[in-house]
Amino acid sequence: MVRVVVDLNRCQGYAQCAFLAPDVFEMHGEEALLYKPRPDEAHRDDVVRAVAACPVQAILMDRSDETVTVGEASDAR
Ligand code: SF4
Repeated sequence: MVRVVVDLNRCQGYAQCAFLAPDVFEMHGEEALLYKPRPDEAHRDDVVRAVAACPVQAILMDRSDETVTVGEASDAR
């Protein structure tokens, strides 16, 4: 599970995120940003790109579950 939080006070509505991860972020009108706080795992890479592209670093992403993935991988060995 990916968790996403956008600091809407920071967000300037540049829509980079909506362009890079349209399944997660959506512009509603000119300035309002809608987003899914818990997008599917399948959209993780898109969200990572959106986080990197946001000009004001308004997007926060919880990557704690990546640690879980690493742990599972090492257990399997
Ligand atoms: S890229 Fe950043 S500033 Fe632009 S709409 Fe998305 S969150 Fe807001």
